[in-house]
Amino acid sequence: MKTVYTFGGSADHSDPRQKDKTVTGGKGANLAEMAQIGLPVPPGFTITTEECVDYLAGGSDFSDDLRAAVADALKHVEQTVGKTLGDNGDPLLVSVRSGARVSMPGMMDTVLNLGLNDKTVAGLAATSGDDRFAWDSYRRFIQMYSDVVLGVDHGLFEEALEIAKEDKGFYNDTEMEAEDWQTLVAEYKGIVDQELGHPFPQDVNQQLWGAIAAVFDSWDSDRAKVYRRLNDIPAEWGTAVNVQAMVFGNMGDTSATGVAFTRDPATGEKAYYGEYLINAQGEDVVAGIRTPQYLTKAAREAAGAKPLSMEEAMPAAYSELADVFDLLEKHYRDMQDIEFTVQDGKLWMLQTRSGKRTAKAALKMAVDMVGEGLVEEKEAILRVDPMALDQLLHPTLDPDAKRDVLTTGLPASPGAASGVIVLDADRAEQLAHGGEKVILVRVETSPEDIHGMHAAKGILTARGGMTSHAAVVARGMGRPCVSGASAVSIDMKARTLRIGNRELKEGDTLTLDGSNGQVMAGEVATIEPELAGDFGILMEWADKYRRMRVRTNAETPNDCRMARQFGAEGIGLCRTEHMFFEAGRISAVREMILADSEAGRRDALAKLLPEQRSDFREIFEVMVGLPCTIRLLDPPLHEFLPHGDSEFEELAENVGLSVDYLKRRAGELHEFNPMLGHRGCRLGITYPEIYEMQARAIFEAACEVAKTSGEAPVPEVMIPLVATRRELQILRALVERVAAEVFAEQGTEIEYMVGTMIELPRAALMAGEIAEEARFFSFGTNDLTQTTLGVSRDDSARFLGPYVDKGIFARDPFVSLDLEGVGQLVELAAERGRATRGDIKLGICGEHGGDPASIGFCEKVGLDYVSASPYRVPIARLAAAQASL
Ligand code: PEP
Ligand code: MG
Repeated sequence: MKTVYTFGGSADHSDPRQKDKTVTGGKGANLAEMAQIGLPVPPGFTITTEECVDYLAGGSDFSDDLRAAVADALKHVEQTVGKTLGDNGDPLLVSVRSGARVSMPGMMDTVLNLGLNDKTVAGLAATSGDDRFAWDSYRRFIQMYSDVVLGVDHGLFEEALEIAKEDKGFYNDTEMEAEDWQTLVAEYKGIVDQELGHPFPQDVNQQLWGAIAAVFDSWDSDRAKVYRRLNDIPAEWGTAVNVQAMVFGNMGDTSATGVAFTRDPATGEKAYYGEYLINAQGEDVVAGIRTPQYLTKAAREAAGAKPLSMEEAMPAAYSELADVFDLLEKHYRDMQDIEFTVQDGKLWMLQTRSGKRTAKAALKMAVDMVGEGLVEEKEAILRVDPMALDQLLHPTLDPDAKRDVLTTGLPASPGAASGVIVLDADRAEQLAHGGEKVILVRVETSPEDIHGMHAAKGILTARGGMTSHAAVVARGMGRPCVSGASAVSIDMKARTLRIGNRELKEGDTLTLDGSNGQVMAGEVATIEPELAGDFGILMEWADKYRRMRVRTNAETPNDCRMARQFGAEGIGLCRTEHMFFEAGRISAVREMILADSEAGRRDALAKLLPEQRSDFREIFEVMVGLPCTIRLLDPPLHEFLPHGDSEFEELAENVGLSVDYLKRRAGELHEFNPMLGHRGCRLGITYPEIYEMQARAIFEAACEVAKTSGEAPVPEVMIPLVATRRELQILRALVERVAAEVFAEQGTEIEYMVGTMIELPRAALMAGEIAEEARFFSFGTNDLTQTTLGVSRDDSARFLGPYVDKGIFARDPFVSLDLEGVGQLVELAAERGRATRGDIKLGICGEHGGDPASIGFCEKVGLDYVSASPYRVPIARLAAAQASL
C-alpha cells in the first residue's frame, strides 16, 4: 500500500485512496482533488495517517521504505517547480503541515519556509531579487522551526524582535529592512545555540525529517488531546503530513495571503467572506498579529473600513479567486473554507475544506442549497449537526432591553452571553466548575486557552480578526465571541481591564452579543428564540423522513407548552414526584410520609388528590389528543423529608405532632443506599394507597378533559423500577381497579394503558414475561446505566472524567448510551418484549433520548419513540431523521 502520495504538476491523482480523508487527511485529500480539477495548487506530497499511527506506535522511528518514498516524492516536487531542496543557487522551500481526517484548527503543528540555511538564504535573495524578503523568510523559519520542532520557547524570539524594533523606533514588522532581519537572524541563531547547546540545523534533510516527526508528534500534544476529547475524535486516527512547495504572499505589494469562505460562516448569507493581508504569510492572518483587510468591496464599505479590499487592490487575482469559489462550491456542494496566496499577482490555492459554521449558518445554508438545487432535502438534513441546534434554541438579547455598550468589536460568533470577567483560561475553568458563568477576556487566544474557552459562556478578545483562533474555535464550540475589540486593554498584573475610558476588574459582569460585536456592562435581558424560518423548514423535512416519534419529558404545563412548540408529539415521561415538591403541597406530602398508619397516610393523600388531579388536567389540556406517559411515584420517601430544625418545627405545627416524634420517624426512613432502596414500585407495593391516589387523580382528570374538550387524552400509566413480573401484576391490577371505579363514578370510559419502565438489568433480562403484564416499555436508561455499570448517577463525576480521558469509556455513559453493554440489554429486552407481545410500544425516556448517537441506536433497535427534555426535542427530531436516512 502506498505510504506517500504526490499532488500537483504531472502527478497521477487516480488512486482513490489519495482522496480518502481517512488515508491522506482532509487537507491532503482536498489538495489532490483541487489539483485534479485543474486548480492552481503548488506541488507537494502527503504522507498517510497510517504512517503516523505506525510512527507513534513504533517508538518514533521512520522505516527505510518511508524514507525512500519521501525522497521520490520530493523529486516530483523539485522537477515540477524546477528547484532543488538545499540548492544554494536556487533553493526549493517547502511547508510541512499536519492534516487529520477532520480539521483541528491550530491544534497541531506547521512549519513554513523549510529549506533555508545560511547558504540557501543567499540563493533565495538572488533569485527573488529581494534581500529583505529572503532574510525575513529565514528569520520566520528559524522562529517557527525552533518553536515547533526544537522546543525553544517562541517568546524568546518575539522578545528579540520587539527589542530590535524598539531600538530602531519601528512600530510594524514591515518597517524592518534586509539588514535588520539579517542581524536578527544572527541573534535568533544565538538563542537556539544558547537554549539547546547546539546550532540551528543547516542540513535541509535533517530539517525536513525533523518537521515530519514534529507534526506526527503533535497528534499527541496536550492541546490536541483536549480538542479530541471535546470533539469525540478517536486517538487511533493519526494525522497525515503534507509537504508542499512554498509560494510567497510576502514578496511585496503584488503578493498577499488570505483566508476565505464561500459563504458567510456566521450568518450563512450567500456572499464571499474573508480576510487578506498584502505582503504577508498565512500565519499573520490567523495569528491576528496584523489586522486583516476585507476581501470584498461591499464588506469593507459595510464596515466603514479604509484599507482597500482585495477586490479593489488586486482585481485580477480577486476575480480569479471568485471563479475558484464558485467552482469549489459546485464541486463539493458545500460551503468551503479556503486558504490562498497570491505570489507576484498569481493566485495559488493552499487548502479547501467544508467550512465550520454556526448553527444559524448551517441551517440557512442547508435550506438555501436545497433551493439552489445544489443538494437534496435528505442531504440537507444530514448536513446539520443536531447538537448545534442547541445554539439556536436558547434565548438571545432582548432588542428592547437597555444596553450599556462599552465598545463594539467583530461579531465573531453569534449568540448572547453574560458572565463575570475572567482573564485567564485556568481561572475560567475553575470558576465555571464552581457553577459561575464566566466571560473569558484575552488579548488574543491561542490553542492553550481551549479549556478556558470551553468553560466560558462567551469570549472577548482585544486583537484578531474573524478568522482568528478565538473566532474559529468559538464558532466551532458554539460560544458567542467578540474578537478584535481594540478598545479593550488588559493589565494582567493588576487583573483589571480598561474598555475605552471605563475601568473594570476581574469579577465584574459583562454581556457580549456575538451577533453584532457589542460588549456591554452588566447583564442584559434576553428573549426566546425564533422557531420559524429556516429552522421550521428543516424541521419539517426532518419530520417527513423520520420514523421514530419524539416525545418530551415534562411535568409542568409550561414545559409541556414549550415542548409542543418545539414539536413534541406527546409526553414520554411525566415524573409525578416533581409535582409533590411544589410549595403548599410539600407539607401534605411530609404528613403522608411521616404518618405511621395507613389511615394517617390516607388523610394526607386526600389533601393531595385534588392538587394532582388539577395538575394532570392542565397537562392533558395542553397535550390534548397526544399520548401522555405518567409515571407513578418513584424516588425514596426520605427525599421529601424536612431538613433542619425550622422545617421540622413548621411541620410539627401543621400536622399537630411533636418535633421529637417527627425526627424519630425521619430517622427510621433514612437509607444508606437510597437509589437501591425503598423507591419506585416498591413504594406502590408497600403503600398501595399512594399509587391508588395517583391513579385516581389521573383517571378523574382524563375523564374531565374528555368531557370538556371532546377529545380524550390517552394516559399511559407507568410503573417504575420493576424487577419482576409479579410486582407489575400487582400494581397493574391496582391501577385497573381504580380506573374501573372512576369510570363507574364518572359514567364515562377512556382508553388507557398500563406499562413499565425497563431500568433494571433483571427487568431487561425478564422482559419476555414482564411483557405479559405491560402494554408498553419505556427504557429508563439513567437507572439502567447506573445499575448495569454499578456506577452512581449522582457520585461519579470525580472519576468519570479520568475514565473518559483514559479511554475506558468513549464518552460519559450517562450522556451517551454505552451501546455495547447497556445497549445490549435494551436490544435484548426489546426483542423479548416483542416476542411476547407483538404490538408492545417501546420508547426511551432516560437522558439518552436527547443524545444524537443514542438516538441512532434507538432507530437501529426499532424503538417507537424517544423522549427528551423540551429543549432537546428539536435535536431529537433531527437526529431521528438522520438515523432514518
Ligand atoms: C431513568 O432512570 O432513565 C429515568 C428516566 O428515570 P429517572 O431519571 O427519573 O430515574
Ligand atoms: Mg429511573
